[in-house]
Amino acid sequence: MARPLLGHLDPEFLSMMDEVRDMLRRTFKTANETTFAVSGTGSAGMEAALVNLLEPGDIAVVGIAGVFGERMAEVARRCGAQVREVRAEWGTPIEPARIVPHLDGAKVLAFVHAETSTGTRQPVEPLASLGRDAGAMIVVDAVTSLAGIPVETDAWGVDVCYSGTQKCLSVPPGLAPITFSPRAVEAIAARRSPVQSWYLDVSLLTRYWGSERVYHHTAPISMLLGLHEGLRLVLEEGLETRWARHERLGAVLAKELDALGFEQFAQDGFRLPQLQAVRLPGGRDADALRRELLDRFDVEVGGGLGPLAGTAWRIGLMGESCHEDAIEFLLDAIREVLG
Ligand SMILES: *Cc1c(COP(=O)(O)O)cnc(C)c1O
Repeated sequence: MARPLLGHLDPEFLSMMDEVRDMLRRTFKTANETTFAVSGTGSAGMEAALVNLLEPGDIAVVGIAGVFGERMAEVARRCGAQVREVRAEWGTPIEPARIVPHLDGAKVLAFVHAETSTGTRQPVEPLASLGRDAGAMIVVDAVTSLAGIPVETDAWGVDVCYSGTQKCLSVPPGLAPITFSPRAVEAIAARRSPVQSWYLDVSLLTRYWGSERVYHHTAPISMLLGLHEGLRLVLEEGLETRWARHERLGAVLAKELDALGFEQFAQDGFRLPQLQAVRLPGGRDADALRRELLDRFDVEVGGGLGPLAGTAWRIGLMGESCHEDAIEFLLDAIREVLG
């Protein structure tokens, strides 16, 4: 990212973009032609997914079990969609059978794969297959899952999948990788009205990312160089190896936290290795101790959100930070602050 700038239509930059697209396809496990990075953070990916598929009056079924599911529903409402919310208790996944009664006439079924506010994993395939059977487009938020736990865009039948650079890809924040299935691209081409966001209109964006190279907006050049390097490192390690690393080290951390008296919030069997939401032992002040970790040890853990506010931490073990020495350092620091 510190390399000297190239022009955004420089042939060298354009071939770097092609490599980014190719590496994104491999990381998303998709053959989708329409795969690129939205200029903006993960939420811009969410917005791009929904704003392109939804028109006023369309029905969107949104699974909600945390902050990011709520955000998807809000974005869909702002697209003018009729939103049918299917809620599950925070810390639990949405049961596939609960979706079925809401799918009639739905254009989109949207939900979060890895809910970062609760540390919960939503199994994608069962929901996606029910949604597809009902004729809905499947939109999946993979911001915290991509390159941390398995994401199988094509095999799971996902139509639009998006992510963010700063979670398990370990790239600074600023881009939202996204992929659209041919079915989704057709649905967008068949819209009755133009996409209300000019900036996020996928038909315009693909004219720049595709072979035409028509100027749309200036690409964030340094960010794309950063993503290129991040993806190169992910694929050099190998996706399967990387998933296994998160799984193995996540289990190590979970076991040690358990021994220290922390209590995992997410339901057993659906816990994310890369984001662990834990209540503190003995009702200790989560925010004060979090602050102490930062001040004394330069370690940042996330605070609790919603029902977890003030009583829990969210510990991220994502990408580059998911290493034995980081876990050991964290655990030593936790022992110190707990006394
Ligand atoms: C972080 C996150 C987002 C939003 O990404 P930003 O980069 O903060 O815009 C969306 N969904 C999930 C699940 C996230 O963890």
